[in-house]
Amino acid sequence: MGSTLLKKVWDLHTVRRLPNGQTQLFIGLHLIHEVTTPQAFDMLRARGWTVRFPERTVGTVDHIVPTRELRRPFSDVMAEDMIAALERNCREAGIRLFDLSSGVQGIVHVIGPELGLTQPGMTIACGDSHTSTHGAFGAVAFGIGTSQVRDVLASQCLALDPLKVRRIRVTGRLARGVYAKDVILDIIRRLGVNGGVGYAYEYAGPAIERMSMDERMTICNMSIEGGARVGYVNPDDVTVSYLRGRRFAPSAEAFETARAWWSSIASDPDAVYDDEVEIDGASIKPTVTWGINPGQSVAVDEPVPSGGAGTAEALEFMGLTGGQPIKGTRIDVAFLGSCTNARLSDLREAARVVRGHQVAKHVTALVVPGSQGVRLAAEREGLDRVFLEAGFEWRGAGCSMCLAMNPDRLQGRQICASSSNRNFKGRQGSPTGRTLLMSPAMVAAAALAGEVVDVRELAHGD
Ligand code: SF4
Repeated sequence: MGSTLLKKVWDLHTVRRLPNGQTQLFIGLHLIHEVTTPQAFDMLRARGWTVRFPERTVGTVDHIVPTRELRRPFSDVMAEDMIAALERNCREAGIRLFDLSSGVQGIVHVIGPELGLTQPGMTIACGDSHTSTHGAFGAVAFGIGTSQVRDVLASQCLALDPLKVRRIRVTGRLARGVYAKDVILDIIRRLGVNGGVGYAYEYAGPAIERMSMDERMTICNMSIEGGARVGYVNPDDVTVSYLRGRRFAPSAEAFETARAWWSSIASDPDAVYDDEVEIDGASIKPTVTWGINPGQSVAVDEPVPSGGAGTAEALEFMGLTGGQPIKGTRIDVAFLGSCTNARLSDLREAARVVRGHQVAKHVTALVVPGSQGVRLAAEREGLDRVFLEAGFEWRGAGCSMCLAMNPDRLQGRQICASSSNRNFKGRQGSPTGRTLLMSPAMVAAAALAGEVVDVRELAHGD
């Protein structure tokens, strides 16, 4: 009987079984940022411990970084303190930090892959929920809390419950105007926001295999929104091509050795799964959330539901009425950014929609590249000019309005068409602000129209 990638990687990294049934798992790569580390380092210091494997730890700054004005010290004292603490902690522990002057700073889940730090078969941890993104490479990647960050800093290990594996096969071909974001929103809508609790999601099938690494990252990024602890795609030629030549990927002969190993850790054809789900990719349409969790979504040509658990509360908060079309919902802000959808290919797709058109007069639209690397690459292609000429703001790299731990925030009851991953109440900085999650192309189309539209109906979306 064959094994899944999860089981192979898990077994290879198992230090020991703990008496409580958990596994002590060795973590190959620990990614850190400014928000979840100051306390963890303080706890370490209080116990007189040091960082066990500084060379397996890499830091960057993302959540609290202003995207308009980077002059230090930041006017937000708390933000300045957090960054200064990370800088100090990394310096003292000998940890590599990609800071604002590095030229490669960005959202931790964007720069890990971009730099080739994220590789197949690794175990990865980061004090951020969306660490599942790295699973796109066939890594087993966990989002962890502050006390677990302390544990990994001190021991390079985590105590974890074993996981079941659900294979989600997406068959067929995606239609024009349908993107990875629509696929993952559709999966979460079908299986529910708690459907993946206790599971790792293995994404497979022809529609997934045809996806670029950027698209696979979008899918894996939102695994956590479906309740799954991790999400992954088996490594293949697409993965190998992406990694070749990246700064921290193995080079020359070592790359060929690594490549053979990466192939060996993919799930075996006869692997047995705890659960299997099959979805016809051709049936997926551009999808938009109408509620207050990522599972509350509809296809853009469907009406908002009027019944079901939690619907009344969500409709009231969103100011929507059951049965009304989601299409035509007026927006105030368009946010193109986040670790879900702010990679170069996302910006290209959005720019394709935007080129030669104007943002609606009542809409504030911003593009926030996921990293300084993405920003530079986009500028080399002239994408910044496309967005600026259309009336978008072109910002520096960071988390920005995904979480609004920085100056980028919704005001009052504004509605935001957003390429991010969470539409929880207050997520974008205003307790009454409202979020509609959708693909970058749909965000771009909504910015131009000033309301939710179907990107498939735009001639210039071709
Ligand atoms: S972009 Fe959003 S989800 Fe991603 S790491 Fe930043 S705050 Fe978290």
